[in-house]
Formats: sequence, C-alpha cells, structure tokens
Amino acid sequence: MDGSTTMVEPEAEASGTCGVIDIDGKLKIGGGRLCLIAGPCSIESEEQMLSTALAVRDAGADILRGGAFKPRTSPYDFQGLGVEGLKMLRAAGDIAGLPVVTEVMDTEDLPVVAEYADILQIGARNCQNFSLLRKAGRMGLPILLKRGMMLTIKEFLLAAEYIIAEGNSKVILCERGIRTFETETRNTLDISAVPILKAKTKLPVFVDPSHAAGSRELVAPLSLAAVAAGADGLVIECHITPDTAWCDGKQSLTPGQFAALARSVRGLAAYTKRDH
Ligand code: PEP
Ligand code: MN
Repeated sequence: MDGSTTMVEPEAEASGTCGVIDIDGKLKIGGGRLCLIAGPCSIESEEQMLSTALAVRDAGADILRGGAFKPRTSPYDFQGLGVEGLKMLRAAGDIAGLPVVTEVMDTEDLPVVAEYADILQIGARNCQNFSLLRKAGRMGLPILLKRGMMLTIKEFLLAAEYIIAEGNSKVILCERGIRTFETETRNTLDISAVPILKAKTKLPVFVDPSHAAGSRELVAPLSLAAVAAGADGLVIECHITPDTAWCDGKQSLTPGQFAALARSVRGLAAYTKRDH
C-alpha cells in the first residue's frame, strides 16, 4: 500500500450508493439536502433527552445525537450513562421521530450500541483505532467517523478505508477541528478539509463546529463557513440548559439558538443552489 487516498473513491463507487446513505428509507444523507445532527454532548436523563429531541426536531434537525459512552480527557470526569443512556436516547428519538447517533468507544460495546443506534459514531480519539474501525464496519450500520485531531486528510481517509474494507461504504466523514498552536479556539476548524474530502471521495462530508470552536459564539459563523464550503451536514451540540450541562456546556447552543442557526444554514444552502 502506498497510502494513496484515491483508494476510497473506487470503493465508495463500487457500493453503488454514490455516497448517498439511506437511513431506513426515511432520510438520505449526502443526497444534496443539508443534514443537521443536533443534541447534547452527553445523555443526562430521560427528560433532558426528550425535551432536547422535541426542541431540535421542531427546529429542523434530522438526527438526534447524545453520548452514552464519553471519551473524557480525565478518568475522573463523568464517563457517560452507558446502556441506560442508550435507552434514553432511543426512546427520545422514537418519540420525536428522529434517527439517533451515538459514540461507540470500545469493541466490546459494539453489539449493545448497535442495538440502540441508527448510526454509530467513532470519535476523534478513536479515529485510528483500527480494530474498532474494522469491527464497527462489520456491524453494517452507517458510521459517522470524526477526524482525529492529529490526523492528516490522507490518514483520515485511510481510517475510513478500514471500515470500507469490511464491505461497509456507509461512512460519513466529519471534520471537527485539528490541533494547532492556536489557543483561542478548542481546535482549529480545517475548512479546507471540506472541499478536499469532497473532491477525493463520494462519501458525505460533515462538519462539527461545536468541538472545533469550544465556545457557542463561534458555532454559527463556523457552521455558515462549513455550508459555504460544501459540507453535506453539520453536527451541533445543543442542550436545553447549556449552563448546567454535564459536559461541553460552553460550546452547546440553546434550542432557540439552534433554531436560528438551522434557519440561517438552510437559507445559505438554498442560496448556494443546493437542496435545503
Ligand atoms: C462528541 O461528538 O461528543 C465528541 C466527543 O467529539 P470528538 O470525538 O470530535 O471530540
Ligand atoms: Mn462534546
């Protein structure tokens, strides 16, 4: 192997999906319509998940997110509610009529996460966990793969290839900011990655401005930049009461802020002559 990123394209083409991922016949990801994923960083309670689910649905979200297995920098921080959280996420998604995405961190959790989720998320920290990538690929579910914060675009594409090599081309690539010398933001959103990934693959390309920004004021401008650059979708952290969030409250939008953002990004998608 020479590490060439062109490997991804024939595989995605060979799948016959041309990069459009169908979620149970209800939703198409990557087909031209901007896809909005929204929800809290972590699942905290039934009420929190349900009220968030209804609010983001009413604001125009397509998919509900929420973490039950959280990759925290410190082992002493809240690690997620685990399987109880998965149940809360599923219930909220079902009531709101939204598919759900949640992170899987460990191969041993794959069966249970796959039982409750419509889309598996593999987070930035596990983007090169090759054994997880292979085994997650075999579950057959679509996978939202977040770019490792230290990965080049080529390495990111080769990580995606681990999933594709298992016969699963339902991969959504997600740029979520990379580490640079800059400290004003949590990470530096690599906007260039969007057109580059779009040119190199047929896979849907999403942007998570929340984890790039680290603060909610920056989420709207980064979202607009992502859509202008051609992103197929956005992942936005949204919490009913961000100031009391157990995780990532600083970068989480209120439902009202999310609704305003959804209007403006859909308006921009329409302006740029894409479906919205
Ligand atoms: C998340 O989406 O909750 C998350 C932890 O993101 P990342 O893996 O991009 O840090
Ligand atoms: Mn988070």
